[in-house]
Amino acid sequence: MAELEGLEFGKSDFVLLDEVTMEQFMENLRLRFEKGRIYTYIGEVVVSVNPYRQMDIYGKDTIEAYRGRELYENPPHLYAVSDAAYKAMKRRAKDTCIVISGESGAGKTEASKYIMQYIAAITNPSQRAEVESVKNVLLKSNCVLEAFGNAKTNRNDNSSRFGKYMDINFNFNGDPTGGHINNYLLEKSRVVHQQEGERNFHSFYQLLRGGSEETLAAFHLQNDPAVYVYTKEGAATVTSNNDRTSHKAVISALEVIGFSKEEINSIYQILASILLLGNLQFESDGESVQILGQEAVNQISELTATEPESVSKTLLYRTVACFGFITALYERLFGWIVGRINTVIEVKDYNPVLHGKNTVIGVLDIYGFEIFDNNSFEQFCINYCNEKLQQLFIELILQQEQAEYQREGITWQHIDYFNNQIIVDLVEQPHKGIISILDEACLTVGNVTDTVCLDSMDTKLAQHPHYTSRKLSPSDKSMEFQKHFRIRHYAGDVTYSVEGILDKNKDLLFQDFKRLMYNSTNPVLKEMWPDGQLSITEVTKRPLTAATLFKNSIVALVDKLACKEPYYVRCIKPNEMKSPMLFDDARCQHQVAYLGLLENVMVRRAGFAYRQPYARFLQRYKMTCEYTWPNHLMASDREAVEAIVTQHGFQDDVAYGHTKLFVRTPRSLFTLEQERAAL
Ligand code: ATP
Ligand code: MG
Repeated sequence: MAELEGLEFGKSDFVLLDEVTMEQFMENLRLRFEKGRIYTYIGEVVVSVNPYRQMDIYGKDTIEAYRGRELYENPPHLYAVSDAAYKAMKRRAKDTCIVISGESGAGKTEASKYIMQYIAAITNPSQRAEVESVKNVLLKSNCVLEAFGNAKTNRNDNSSRFGKYMDINFNFNGDPTGGHINNYLLEKSRVVHQQEGERNFHSFYQLLRGGSEETLAAFHLQNDPAVYVYTKEGAATVTSNNDRTSHKAVISALEVIGFSKEEINSIYQILASILLLGNLQFESDGESVQILGQEAVNQISELTATEPESVSKTLLYRTVACFGFITALYERLFGWIVGRINTVIEVKDYNPVLHGKNTVIGVLDIYGFEIFDNNSFEQFCINYCNEKLQQLFIELILQQEQAEYQREGITWQHIDYFNNQIIVDLVEQPHKGIISILDEACLTVGNVTDTVCLDSMDTKLAQHPHYTSRKLSPSDKSMEFQKHFRIRHYAGDVTYSVEGILDKNKDLLFQDFKRLMYNSTNPVLKEMWPDGQLSITEVTKRPLTAATLFKNSIVALVDKLACKEPYYVRCIKPNEMKSPMLFDDARCQHQVAYLGLLENVMVRRAGFAYRQPYARFLQRYKMTCEYTWPNHLMASDREAVEAIVTQHGFQDDVAYGHTKLFVRTPRSLFTLEQERAAL
């Protein structure tokens, strides 16, 4: 067991707590954080607290210490689960996945990068060039995705504004052969609007501050974010990343991945056109609308390789819908970049007969549960996603336990846990669920307003125990406004505003814009807008709504995860100040509660807290028993282990599996550990 550090650092596994109470859990978490022990286990789950400082625990030596070892042989670490996932993949040809969760700023993305670096470090010992190149591309993709998908928010200077799931493929040698990235729900509204103190996506500032004089001149840009409406808000904010050096790193990463000069140029041309579009001024004389300044229009049409007349005509005809167009431009650019990376890392010519089974490790870095002062459609989607993942977590963790008991021939008592399926159903059930009701409202011809839609939800969901609204509970003063509904999520109550929810769900983008972009003579831009080619009859087919598209992508994600052996990293943010010193009890406790960590410990302990192969158990404790020290003369290791257990009098606390000893309460092992230490 992982008691290698001594108890002054707290308990390295929460299942070892004397009692599973919130108090003890928090005490242990805090103690370990204060002692610089940021990782703690719950069985095989890693709980991580963001240290907000550079830790000397990711170097080559550490990687070597964890390489090929079992979980309990070293102090808790991301590397240990990475290795466990890797071993399962390599030795047992299992597809595995590592699911990283936690709120914004908790350290998910950093964790995902350490995991990838670990895997890169321990593979391809023979340094084969094609494998090295695959590894390099996989690692470099992080840099590109962060530039275009991350932004400074008030909660995190480098916040991922999209969800990411990355598959890494391995050949029979256990070396990476490629991968695939799925991205989820980019927060595209950030392109045209940022909260006070926040920034637009890093890419814009990187271009403006890091682009060469010639590039900026060619793009008709000035090297000052304060000049542009879309970058003004964050212009004065200093982030921990230097935009100028990052820009160079991103360009070099794009080149390494294999983007051509033209493609890279096109990417930045699109960014430039977005900045220029944001600065366009419209003037209305009451009758008609004009664009002020033909020059800007010419520049935009030059950058997008379209006709100036078409640009101004489309913008004037659809002035009110311009935001939708501009955010879509960025969203499609992002999607295209991800797709382009995928074409490079996709496994080609893999012949299973020749090469053996192609196995996969998936890494999921996705937004955590969100409760803001104002919650809208985006939070609704994100929290639904978390419900789905939480459900999977409970199912898989329990399933895994059950499977292990079965394998080992041990009787297992089913334990009850809160099954959040009821909340998942509330959101996604056909016809009755919230998404269906939203979709129905969007598809209804005529003037269905957000409020009418809310009424419809109130009628249909009045009886649902996890749904309420002001109308349904008029005495609930905490729900101040009329245009809100509330979901009782597994992680807490969240009140959502319906203001604008139908428009966001429809996500309407006029065909005029699509056609304008499709008609661009820049092949990259054209490729991003294939639907601009559709004929009128095809266009009138109703597109899927944003909520339904999101739901489908999350259902597909969950299906993907469910068939893999899961490993979990649960990240906790210690304070709001980004401080390495502060452990904010209330904030941490809240996260522990909604991540369901206490439940996790209970589930783990309700069965058998500890299990160990007989040989290993013997190795560790044989010196505590006269019959086994220095060697035993019994017929099997199992019998020798029985001798140790009986001598220490906890035979009622264990079960003997086919290959492993199962120990119900940690106390028994403590006794052994103490005895061992006293020798
Ligand atoms: P979001 O949901 O907003 O994307 P996140 O959970 O991905 O948040 P990260 O970006 O990984 O959060 O972490 C936020 C910041 O915390 C990092 O930029 C880094 O400064 C610090 N941090 C996180 N993990 C570590 C670590 N293991 N060591 C040192 N610093 C860390
Ligand atoms: Mg992140």
